[in-house]
Formats: sequence, C-alpha cells, structure tokens
Amino acid sequence: MSEQGGAHDQDVGHEHTEDRSGEPFVNEIEVRGLIVGAFQENCWVIGNRRTSEAICIDPGEQADDILHMASEMGVTIKMIANSHAHLDHVLGVRGVQSADNASFLLHEADLDVLQGAAESAARFGMQVEQPPDPDHYIEDEQQVEVDGVALHVIHTPGHTRGSVCFYGHGVLFSGDTLFRNSIGRTDLPGGDFAQEMSSIVDKLLMLPDETIVLPGHMDQTTLGAERVQNPFILQTLQQRGMEPGERRTPGGLILPN
Ligand SMILES: [Zn+2]
Ligand SMILES: [Zn+2]
Repeated sequence: MSEQGGAHDQDVGHEHTEDRSGEPFVNEIEVRGLIVGAFQENCWVIGNRRTSEAICIDPGEQADDILHMASEMGVTIKMIANSHAHLDHVLGVRGVQSADNASFLLHEADLDVLQGAAESAARFGMQVEQPPDPDHYIEDEQQVEVDGVALHVIHTPGHTRGSVCFYGHGVLFSGDTLFRNSIGRTDLPGGDFAQEMSSIVDKLLMLPDETIVLPGHMDQTTLGAERVQNPFILQTLQQRGMEPGERRTPGGLILPN
C-alpha cells in the first residue's frame, strides 16, 4: 500500500470457507482504503460483494472520491463508523452521509471534539462546514453492522476520550490508537498516555496475532508484528515485566499465544 495518495487495495481473508450448502466460496468481504486530505488520513471502506452493503470508517475528506471508490467496489455505504472525531477524520462525513443517507456513529465521549471541528479547522486557517452530529452513539463491546459486514467495537481511550477501534473479518481498524511502529498522540486535549498504552496492551493485544491492522495514518501492519517491534508496546511490556510474546488479561490471567 502506497503512502503517496491514491487507492490501495486490501482483500482480506483469503481462506476458503464453507457456506451452509457445503459449497466452498471465497471470502465475500473486500476492504479498500483511500488517503485523503492535508493530514494524509486513511479512509477505509469495508463492503460485502454479495449484499452490496458497506461500512465507511473515518471519511476524513474528499467525500466524492470515497463515494467513487465505493461504487468501483460495487457497494453502497450504509453506515459511517468513526474511530474518533478529530478534524482529519470527519470532514467527509457530511458528503458521504448525504449521498447514501448513511447513519453516522461515534462514541459519545468524542462529541465535544466533533462539535469543535469547525473551530479547530479555523485554527489551521481552514474554513469548513461543521460535520453533522452522530445519529447513534457507539459503546464498548457493541456490534455495528450492515448486511454482511459486522464489526465489534473496542473502546480504546488515550488518543481521545472517545477513541474506538473496530474489529471483524480478520481486520482491526485502529484509528489513531495504534500505528505501524508507533501510537497516536496523547498530548492533545483528552489524551492520556497511560490510558493509551492500557487500551493497546490490555485490549488490542488480546486479539489474534494474524489480525491485519488498518490504521488512521500510514502503513498497515499486523498485531503480531507490533507486539514484537512497536517500541511503545515493548517498553510497556518491559515495565510490566512481561515478555514480548506474552499476553495477560488485566486480571493477570496469562493467555496462550
Ligand atoms: Zn486523531
Ligand atoms: Zn488522524
């Protein structure tokens, strides 16, 4: 996947699975990403080829380009699910929403960030239309779904209070919580470094190592790679007296790898 604009393709889950009739079929889920806006944000569309329905994660800008990508995939965006409400993740919400009448979902703890979007844009010298308010709030451990695509919500505060990650179909959409070899900033309002590391180590690292991580910026990675190469994770594990490959629940239970 390129760092320099344009679309990148991500076909996930190449394993053949059995449907109820016993006929093998190739995974019907397709994920594509588009780098949008001045902050080079990754917008993701996860769609189902059979049902033609899709969820859009973080339409940060360039709504028309995102809609074009969805139509190339042959899917309609029925839902916009945001990892958090920073400016670079929300400026395309209105355009995507109005085209397909998609519902817009956000964690309630990021509502103040969302409602301050136009104001914070002004500080960057940008004049933007205020994004719409969410249609629904999402909570930890909730499932968000359209026909044929289901994602599990993991509340991961630390970058912002209302940051969430979405997990499903072998993929983790990690927003600005976890990046390849890095983590999201924790020095902005609502940020908290200890909380960020707890969100990553106690929640995200409980998922399987082969999970593909599609972050809000920069390149994709896997949880297994980050577990052994991400300096912030390695430091936290070391401070806790844990080996890089070790998993422990917050209650201290050691999980097999
Ligand atoms: Zn952010
Ligand atoms: Zn961002």
